[in-house]
Amino acid sequence: MNLSGMQIFKYLPAAKKAEHSNCKECGCPTCMAFAIKLAQKQVTYDRCKYMPKDLKALCAKNMKTPQKTIAIDNLKIGGENVLYRHEKTFVNPTTLAVILDCKDPDFENKLQRIKDFKITRINETMKVNLVILKNGEDYKTNDLCDETVYISEKDFNKLSLIKIVDNNFADTSKKLIEIRQKAILERDENYSNPVYVYLKSTNDLSDLCARASYYLCKYANMLVFEDFDEALFATLMTLRQNIFTDPQKPLQVESKIYEFNNPDENSIVFMTTNFALTFFAVANELENLHVPSYLIVTPAEGMSVLTAWSAEKFTAQMVAKTLKKFNLTEKVKTRKIIIPGLLEHMKEELEEALPEFEIVVGTIEAYAISDFVKNMTC
Ligand code: SF4
Repeated sequence: MNLSGMQIFKYLPAAKKAEHSNCKECGCPTCMAFAIKLAQKQVTYDRCKYMPKDLKALCAKNMKTPQKTIAIDNLKIGGENVLYRHEKTFVNPTTLAVILDCKDPDFENKLQRIKDFKITRINETMKVNLVILKNGEDYKTNDLCDETVYISEKDFNKLSLIKIVDNNFADTSKKLIEIRQKAILERDENYSNPVYVYLKSTNDLSDLCARASYYLCKYANMLVFEDFDEALFATLMTLRQNIFTDPQKPLQVESKIYEFNNPDENSIVFMTTNFALTFFAVANELENLHVPSYLIVTPAEGMSVLTAWSAEKFTAQMVAKTLKKFNLTEKVKTRKIIIPGLLEHMKEELEEALPEFEIVVGTIEAYAISDFVKNMTC
């Protein structure tokens, strides 16, 4: 496991009020500063000559890579450093792979379905990551070039991956947890290779989906399916996107003017920030309103409206600059902009910065937009 600065510090001379406390020989002003830098891997442990043997042993263990990364072209598998996402972040999303038999009479059809399949969600377009070609040594993969990676079964079997055949949910999940714990907590090199679960063909797609979802969360680096199913993959990709987001980076959407229900120059104009959750809540309401509208999404590093305002990422000047960039005055004759109800206190400030627009304070919650618009138009 990763040692924290405090865990390291308690072994150092300053914590024990021993000789050489804060001697600065390591180049750090104090033992505490050294401990923090060591925890962040900014210095190596051999910089302190007075470090006790037990801490040296812990640091040496800590230096080992918990899980190796295996690369197939530009596809990376494994490389995880933590058990839980909130500790830092997960690194490489679980690879979703399909095994295809080139001798299957339905091979071309199955391959075409895989090639045609893609989903786009929160600015990310997702495709099947890997196709393993059984009996496919002679298959010309040059003709297949797209974002999906192709590999012959023979080459796939040469990769240093730990295989778990999913015969039983309890056994598979137990093995996955054991392997990840050994790799991360004990830095055990016998368990440092990425793990894949092989899921056999079944008619019970709900059961397959439930098992695969669990393995995706804990702790398969790759799932290999004998069959391809669009609904199954769309579900797993959606789940995977949520599990593998970096908790330190808010999900954000592109900053631009979004259009709903074929708006024209007289349509109503809403505004919000590029925080993904707010955007989808508002966009969903606007889409279902069946009233033509625009939604201006301002750049705010993915922060929600109030957070963006308090972090000065949503100021009147920034809004004015964004509207100028989007050429809003050319796009619409409407001279009203509806801002989120939480930003009511910015009304005057915005009106000063945008003299050609009337600022209308909208709703606090997205679900109230429908009633708000009905009252506005009548
Ligand atoms: Fe503390 Fe060791 Fe650095 Fe001296 S060399 S300040 S004892 S960490």
